[in-house]
Amino acid sequence: MTDIVVLGSTNMDLVTYVEKAPQRGETVTGREFRTIPGGKGANQATAAARAGGDVLMIGAVGNDAYGAQLRSALEHSGVDTDDLRTVEGPSGTAHIVVDDEGGNAIVVIPGANATLDHLSPGDEGVIADADTLLLQLEIPLPAVLAGARAARRHGVRTVLTPSPARPLPDELLGAIDLIVPNEHEAATLTGRTDPREAAGVLLDLVPEVVVTLGASGSLYAARGAEPLTVPALEVTAVDSTGAGDTFVGALAVALGEGRPMPDALAWASCAAALSVQREGATVSMPYRPEIDERYAS
Ligand code: ATP
Repeated sequence: MTDIVVLGSTNMDLVTYVEKAPQRGETVTGREFRTIPGGKGANQATAAARAGGDVLMIGAVGNDAYGAQLRSALEHSGVDTDDLRTVEGPSGTAHIVVDDEGGNAIVVIPGANATLDHLSPGDEGVIADADTLLLQLEIPLPAVLAGARAARRHGVRTVLTPSPARPLPDELLGAIDLIVPNEHEAATLTGRTDPREAAGVLLDLVPEVVVTLGASGSLYAARGAEPLTVPALEVTAVDSTGAGDTFVGALAVALGEGRPMPDALAWASCAAALSVQREGATVSMPYRPEIDERYAS
């Protein structure tokens, strides 16, 4: 029995650090280049495994060098990769240019992630065995929908991070138990820029909503209950990339352990706050003892 199955993307982030990003036709000398395992699916799997969950990832990597590195990075954090397929062709990549003012420009090439447009035989059984299915939108929508439907058939809790932001069919939202957009994603889904109003609209289709608000924390809303605001921890943020995925991974672990939502949200905020204090998405994700220690203090 697995606690958490993640159905989603794996990308190698190719990150260039430069004083000022080049304009079209311009060549500049950068300061540093790093390859960092990423992709929202792999990020959430990594965060949940480090937070103490028993986690399995359904996804696809290419048969290139990045594919092997992405697989071993997941395994290193304790994620079961038996259902991570290796397909012909390149792995997904995200080409990221970070300038000295913290601004970034990103080109994502889906690569192997684009082959995940359906569930494979056996995936439904893997999902049925879990408590929670984590979904995001970096793989083709038909697979996300198939995963949500499979989870619903087997009474598995579904948690959707609607990123990258895009309008979604009611059929998908209707198969989700908890949706966790950031402010921008909540606005894209509902047309409302006020997070409370956006959460109210989402509650028509999804029973529970958490809107993450960056350094302002998060807002929880459920049908028939007063919304709850959970503050973020006051920390010096170095790099907030992956904060949302760390938050969702830890939240899924806490809810799977039967902790009440306010407690689970407070614990997930500790995990996310720890991750923003260090550079890099997956590399900055905290392990359970560190989260517990921060929570206790
Ligand atoms: P990303 O796309 O960078 O992964 P996101 O936009 O999905 O992030 P955010 O709303 O930025 O998600 O952050 C998720 C959670 O992380 C917040 O609800 C908060 O608990 C925590 N967090 C984010 N930024 C900070 C910060 N500067 N200080 C403390 N906690 C933070």
